[in-house]
Amino acid sequence: MSIETANVIPVSSEPDDAGHFGPYGGTYASETLMHALEELKEAYFRWRSDEEFMARLDADLAHYVGRPSPIYFAQRLTEAAGGARILLKREDLNHTGAHKINNTMGQGLLAQHMGKKRIIAETGAGQHGVASATVAARLGKQCAVYMGEVDIHRQAINVFRMRLLGAEVRPVTSGSKTLKDALNEAMRDWVTNIDDTYYIIGTVAGPHPYPLMVRDFNAVVGREARRQMLEQYEALPDVLVACVGGGSNALGLFHPFIGDAGVRMVGVEAAGEGLQTGRHAASLCAGRPGVLHGCRTYLMDDDAGQITHTHSVSAGLDYPGVGPEHAWLKDTGRAEYVGVTDEEALQSFHQLTRLEGILPALESSHAVAHGFKMAAGMRPDQIVLINLSGRGDKDVQTVAELEGISL
Ligand SMILES: *Cc1c(COP(=O)(O)O)cnc(C)c1O
Repeated sequence: MSIETANVIPVSSEPDDAGHFGPYGGTYASETLMHALEELKEAYFRWRSDEEFMARLDADLAHYVGRPSPIYFAQRLTEAAGGARILLKREDLNHTGAHKINNTMGQGLLAQHMGKKRIIAETGAGQHGVASATVAARLGKQCAVYMGEVDIHRQAINVFRMRLLGAEVRPVTSGSKTLKDALNEAMRDWVTNIDDTYYIIGTVAGPHPYPLMVRDFNAVVGREARRQMLEQYEALPDVLVACVGGGSNALGLFHPFIGDAGVRMVGVEAAGEGLQTGRHAASLCAGRPGVLHGCRTYLMDDDAGQITHTHSVSAGLDYPGVGPEHAWLKDTGRAEYVGVTDEEALQSFHQLTRLEGILPALESSHAVAHGFKMAAGMRPDQIVLINLSGRGDKDVQTVAELEGISL
């Protein structure tokens, strides 16, 4: 897309005071939690317009995280698709290997400024737990990470990583012993220890102000990408593509482009074994509105209103809800959402590795698969920018097992 046709003034999509994006978002929380959320909201709005705070965050993002991450022209992948140019935003090159550190660094500094000496987090696959434990080590804070017992067994390496970083990993044995139960335990801890404890949520979900705050901390991805596109290509991309679990890497990329009417935005959910099989994690493509984890959004539930089991080959996309801002972007039509199956994602994992020498996370492989499909149907003068949210080293074991290879 040429600059002339682009609206170059970034238009923000801020929620209302209570955190509503249209009919979504808000604060569905117990009275005990409201106090903690109010304190957090006040602190966030104060520090996000504080120059010194933002300068400290920018310095950490530059010298500790390694930003800016490049946009990389994937030439061989482009040739294979035979259509539009494919560019990758290289979030895999960040410290700890994914976009998650953008958010934990921001919230970690907020905890510091709020005078909290203890950080807690919940984690499913372990990636957010590792990013939180990393920042806690960096800032000299105590750290406890809640994790379902089932996930602890599935993600042994990340559990050990968190312990090496000095975090205490607390097994959760209630309910299904997975992410949603860990979330409930973390909330309980927070309410009990509100005076000295800061709770880092890892995606654009949860009660206000989390969806807004996590998006803002990840929006550095889109701000950089927009600037890099104009500097290096003198154009904006025609299409942005990103995978959607809770939706933080996607919103981080999309947000600064929301006012650019000519830039299409496509979020890719995990279609697992296929949308029609019910074995997937595609809340926007196949779910319906309801309330989950403190906000109104699209989710996956059964006729009795119980949250259903999700499935995806990539643990980071295996979540039965999605950030409320995505629900709004879907309903308004500003962004589109599609599903990519396990099998397609695995194919793209191998394809990118072999063609470009870049091993993508299985989450990111979903975005690569759809970006490739779109590029194939576009013109050579057009550009598809894919968010490569993380590196795939963590997934090597999973891929080997799926292919019957014992390491
Ligand atoms: C956690 C994770 C995701 C999914 O989370 P979002 O909030 O949807 O971005 C995607 N990619 C990678 C590499 C992750 O670690």
